[in-house]
Amino acid sequence: MQNTSEIEELVKLISKLPGLGPKSAKRIVLKLINNRDELVKPLAKTLAEVYKNISRCKICGVLKSSTIECSYDNCKVIQRKYSQICVVENIADQWSIENSNIFKGYFHILGGTISSVGHKKEDLLINSLIERVKKDKIEEIILATSATVEGQTTAFYIQDSLSNMDVKITKLAQGLPVGGEIENLDDGTLLSAFKNRSKINSNSS
Ligand SMILES: [Zn+2]
Repeated sequence: MQNTSEIEELVKLISKLPGLGPKSAKRIVLKLINNRDELVKPLAKTLAEVYKNISRCKICGVLKSSTIECSYDNCKVIQRKYSQICVVENIADQWSIENSNIFKGYFHILGGTISSVGHKKEDLLINSLIERVKKDKIEEIILATSATVEGQTTAFYIQDSLSNMDVKITKLAQGLPVGGEIENLDDGTLLSAFKNRSKINSNSS
């Protein structure tokens, strides 16, 4: 194969994507090259727009477009719609829970766990969670962190950080498989974990 450096670079970049190795990356690149106008052009445009406009909200952690304040009124509570915040580690977890239609409320994406590599408490959006609880009259915080040591340590730290506040804190049921990451759970397991969540603090009712 007489590769040009541009193609090699593209194959290299695409093979970094999850689930793709060099072989499937080459297939994707070929598909792109054979469909320049239908795929390459709109893809390049969309990628540039995503790069320019999409970022994580510094308050609630969801992905938002710079063209609007915070997507789907998650953290700018104008008219109070929900009284619960579901706290998750990352955006993939939020998407799993959203897709399962189990939970209707606000999300708060921490951006990792306390002991995961390179993450310190200060890097996670915990202070802004405390602010949201105060400001938005939140009645329940549902800790939906993974059933891993890191996930549970993080949940415990949040519980401790909210200990002086009048808010009910619940944790997903222990039916979660040990080591289970939220994003990999099937809808049935998620549903029962939500339904059977247990209260873990003594504040509020
Ligand atoms: Zn937000």
